[in-house]
Amino acid sequence: MNNYLSKKIKSLPVSATLEMAAKARELKNKGIDIIGLSLGEPDFNTPDFIKDASIQAIKDNYNSYTPVDGYEELKQAVCEKFKRDNEINYEPNQIVISTGAKQSIANTIQVLVNEGEDVLLVAPYWVSYSAIVTLAGGNPIEIRSDISTDFKISPSKLEKSITKKTKLLIINSPNNPSGSVYSEDELVELSKILDKFPNIFILSDEIYEHINYGIPHFSFAKIPSMYNRTITVNGLAKAFAMTGWRIGYLGAPSWIAKACTKMQGQITSGTNCIAQRATISALKAPVSKIQYMVEEFSERRKLIISLLNDIKGIKINKPMGAFYVFPDISYFFGKTIKNIKINNASDFAIFLLEKAHVATVTGDAFGCPNNIRISYAASREVIVNAIERIKKVLNC
Ligand code: GLU
Repeated sequence: MNNYLSKKIKSLPVSATLEMAAKARELKNKGIDIIGLSLGEPDFNTPDFIKDASIQAIKDNYNSYTPVDGYEELKQAVCEKFKRDNEINYEPNQIVISTGAKQSIANTIQVLVNEGEDVLLVAPYWVSYSAIVTLAGGNPIEIRSDISTDFKISPSKLEKSITKKTKLLIINSPNNPSGSVYSEDELVELSKILDKFPNIFILSDEIYEHINYGIPHFSFAKIPSMYNRTITVNGLAKAFAMTGWRIGYLGAPSWIAKACTKMQGQITSGTNCIAQRATISALKAPVSKIQYMVEEFSERRKLIISLLNDIKGIKINKPMGAFYVFPDISYFFGKTIKNIKINNASDFAIFLLEKAHVATVTGDAFGCPNNIRISYAASREVIVNAIERIKKVLNC
């Protein structure tokens, strides 16, 4: 029956993050004690004040279709958030609320990218960017970076990657999976290159904005010359522990927001009414209300870095944001451990799953074949246990 499926879906890769999480879940259901560090999902509960707002919304009978681009009150709250946290001025007609930041990204790419146009992705990049670009008929073009530059690119590297076909650049700071954060100066330097190419748009994925350990977050759209061609994407999943609520949003020039609304209107309509009401409360609250989670992530970061630094052959950068480490594990390529030959990062991730019962994600999926991603959005005990298991199977 597979023959009946479209070429498009047959050539689409499965999301590596979700695939690994499903594999881990499957093994857990079979009774195997798997430690899941594959998914970027906070282990905290959604804060009570947000849950209370959703219960109130149910009681208040918020149950009808919502406006395609989101409740007016929520769009207003998003504008206030952008002003308060990012010093960017957006009006409600520049905001679109979606079912997760993933949909905001997909909408943007669908409405901007034509068949055959190039989208620049800084590798390592989040797994779904390239698949979404391909679905839109565009060409995902990788700009490579590595641990020696803290997985960031220089302005000259950006300039060399631009061609006549370049339509969009995706910037993701703090970065998933490397945790790298671009400083304001670094972003301004990149924007000076983009000043020379006025037909290129920029999608700035800022979903990890609040999970930051020291380099102040800077929004690309705050740069005056970039404002009119930047789409700022954010959401509630990571910093508010609301992954399953599926709320993302974007701020963009109004003509792009309007096009995204048109796209969304044909595909999913407005997003969930209860989750939108809860998000109004989440965004209106001071950021200090979620700081306890960031502080805990910061402790876990220190812990996992020190534990991994103890393992021979593992090289890591110091992530300044998000909740992932992205070690280079190429030292193990070509080695046979516990009768398993490790040829690449996928083999290594599968080896860890099968022998240590620790789920991670292969770096190939992020455009970096020498690395694996480990999420430390798990308790300190779980992290210690996971790294002990890894050490044991690697004989360190
Ligand atoms: N963004 C998260 C991750 O990278 C969630 C899974 C996904 O949608 O890729 O793990």
